[in-house]
Amino acid sequence: MEKKNIDWSSLGFGYVQTDKRFVSNFKNGAWDEGTLTDDAEVRISECAGVLQYSQSCFEGLKAYTTEDGHIVTFRPDLNAARMKDSCERLEMPVYPVDKWVDAIVSVVKANAAWVPPYGSGATLYIRPYMFGSSPVIGVKPAEEYQFRVFCTPVGPYFKGGAKPITIRVSDFDRAAPRGTGHIKAGLNYAMSLYPIMDAHRNGFDENMYLDPATRTKVEETGGANFLFVTKDGTVVTPKSSSILPSITRRSLIYVAEHYLGLKVEEREVFFEEVKDFAECGLCGTAAVISPVGKIYDHGKEICLPSGMDEMGPVTKKLYETLTGIQMGRLEAPEGWIKVIE
Ligand SMILES: *Cc1c(COP(=O)(O)O)cnc(C)c1O
Repeated sequence: MEKKNIDWSSLGFGYVQTDKRFVSNFKNGAWDEGTLTDDAEVRISECAGVLQYSQSCFEGLKAYTTEDGHIVTFRPDLNAARMKDSCERLEMPVYPVDKWVDAIVSVVKANAAWVPPYGSGATLYIRPYMFGSSPVIGVKPAEEYQFRVFCTPVGPYFKGGAKPITIRVSDFDRAAPRGTGHIKAGLNYAMSLYPIMDAHRNGFDENMYLDPATRTKVEETGGANFLFVTKDGTVVTPKSSSILPSITRRSLIYVAEHYLGLKVEEREVFFEEVKDFAECGLCGTAAVISPVGKIYDHGKEICLPSGMDEMGPVTKKLYETLTGIQMGRLEAPEGWIKVIE
């Protein structure tokens, strides 16, 4: 199979239309067979549930070319399970987990020419999503839905090394204590756009959200979970029912414990403690770990000892071990790597 003629290393994180996408429709209480299509356009009612009341959820995962030339994805079963949780919370029909993973595999296979080669630093980003497609005007769930999966090649997240970022403590809240923070719903992102643009306008890369009830505990950023490292090398990550359960974060914790022999604590993390940590990183599929160098809190600055030039040593080891597993350089735990071809 011949690869597309693309300068992989200069790709950014943007949408590039690829050859095929998967579409399945839910009608009269059942999902149809689903099919791959060339058609990248969606045609739905002007009154579709998603357009009126934002009934939609999504996932994000990647396909990689490994060192020995296979195309693989990373723990797609966990994305399928998380989308099931999102659908249930939003009164949307669940797309069966097995068929969900099959859909991912079929899209990646059909777009194999778009999967960046090993060593380019680029990857194939896969976006599964679902939305209410039938007309809804009185507030209620739609009766018909569409589940789609497309993919797009994305460039190396860190061009020229992972530079630590500066974040600020946000005055806005991300998720209510018994709200929708734990599911991957588009609505959580719509309301985060103003705070993130406001952060950028003020010179910050990201927002650190605190728990809305007490504003004393660390939750997450708009799209990534926190990992901290204490001065004695323990990995600490916030536990809260309103953060999105990041698959990257859960995988890094496993790697910390079982590959690197580090102590791990998943617990409430008070903002008061942050000034005593040695390292801080943001975890998610896009970057794996993005190091944080500085945290701004209303006129006060917390400068992490790892500094503004490079990742802290523990963060770096975590990053290298997990990307080593994803790229096939290190042996993966049972069930983590789904070989596509
Ligand atoms: C998707 C997402 C993450 C990261 O999850 P991964 O499974 O690691 O990609 C973290 N926080 C939020 C709010 C997200 O939507």
